[in-house]
Amino acid sequence: MPSATGDDDTPLVSHTGALLTRPVTFVFTLVPTAEQDQLCFQHAGAFRLVFNHHVARVFANLDQREAEKSYGLEGEQLTPALSWSKVSLINHMNAWKNGHAPDSPVTELAHGTTVRGLPWRDAVSADVFETASVNAAQALKNWRDSFRGERKGKKVGRPRFKAKHRTTPTFRLRAKYTEGKTPPVRPAGPRAMRFPKLGEIRVAEHTGRLGKMLRTGRFHPYAAAFTYRNGRWQVAVTGMAAEHHHLRRSTRHRHDRPAGVDLGVHKLAVVADTDGLVLHEWTGVKPLQHAQARLKLANQALARTKQGSNGRKKAVRRLGTIHARVRQLRRHLLHDITSTLVTRCSTVVIEDLNVAGMVRNRSLARHLSDAALGELRRQLEYKTGWYGTRRVVADRWFPSSKMCSRCGHIHDGLTLADRVYQCPECGLELDRDVNAAINLATRAFEPVPDVAPPQPVAA
Ligand SMILES: [Zn+2]
Repeated sequence: MPSATGDDDTPLVSHTGALLTRPVTFVFTLVPTAEQDQLCFQHAGAFRLVFNHHVARVFANLDQREAEKSYGLEGEQLTPALSWSKVSLINHMNAWKNGHAPDSPVTELAHGTTVRGLPWRDAVSADVFETASVNAAQALKNWRDSFRGERKGKKVGRPRFKAKHRTTPTFRLRAKYTEGKTPPVRPAGPRAMRFPKLGEIRVAEHTGRLGKMLRTGRFHPYAAAFTYRNGRWQVAVTGMAAEHHHLRRSTRHRHDRPAGVDLGVHKLAVVADTDGLVLHEWTGVKPLQHAQARLKLANQALARTKQGSNGRKKAVRRLGTIHARVRQLRRHLLHDITSTLVTRCSTVVIEDLNVAGMVRNRSLARHLSDAALGELRRQLEYKTGWYGTRRVVADRWFPSSKMCSRCGHIHDGLTLADRVYQCPECGLELDRDVNAAINLATRAFEPVPDVAPPQPVAA
């Protein structure tokens, strides 16, 4: 049986026989009516309540046992430990909201009768209770694993309660697609989406591509995540998509010489091939620079306002809008760079960004932040897989900037201020970014030490 989540190892196959291997997300901005907007907030409120309920219950149990142990109780005498597995939390939540748990809430009605369980449970999609329980289980697991040293990366703290005014309103619906049935999350027209419980909601973007991929069995959604940011709701429909058509993957119309990508000293990105031909160039992107300048002004304006004043509220809102724009422009730019690279070139050579970020002038970092460099690399990894593009990572000690692309001389006296590479050996004069890009391009033919060979399919 094909699974819609792709969790198991068996490949996911759609009803048209397409192999679904690419995790893909469609994002839409909602244009809800006042009632739908309210309903979304109600769902987010339920999501928060369920998450907080689980965290409070688990920690009450842990604290209780801790206290009992300090009185010298042990083993059987202790209050039994609660299970925090996803299934346990989901089962408990079902009993709790329906009034079948010993600690179910009791509401008193006007005429003296009482109702056990959550009185508004049917107003909200049942998915919310389940997905919030799954989130709580995951947060608790991350905390425990981190505590025991079984989790890589930064230490994860005790899960915190989601406070109404400090957390971003969010909730998730399951959109599991069952073969032969109408998908629960689907377009309801060119600019409308249908969701379980929420009904038909107008969206700002065109839904055509998602609709077509659903109809042809090239996309199986499994979740729809709603987030309220900067005054509007966005929904991310995630799922698994089919491989690109082989013609889109074909390299026929691509530049056949390897292309080196130099990431910004003075320009964001410069792409050149082994013959010194500059294929693409991203200089300081105007809209992004403009938005960043506005961001600075908005920050200054905020600093001039008085705490608690109406002016401050307005300034905060304005700042939020500009932040959102900067974020979107950055995202767009990264996708533009990576998509262009993988669809126009047959071989892409990049430098080892982990090191590049540290030793270089931070020009690109200033525009895109260090996290964006990692994101750029991540996108390159999966997109080269999508389009069958060869990806080569130059080794981290390769002196792409200092080397002369004509004679190979290493120019140690080159400083970051030198915009033009001037070779003391052969007299070459070339834009330093272009010189570095050419050097990188030539690495496509070199054996690459210290780095894993390029993965042809990374999806
Ligand atoms: Zn030279």
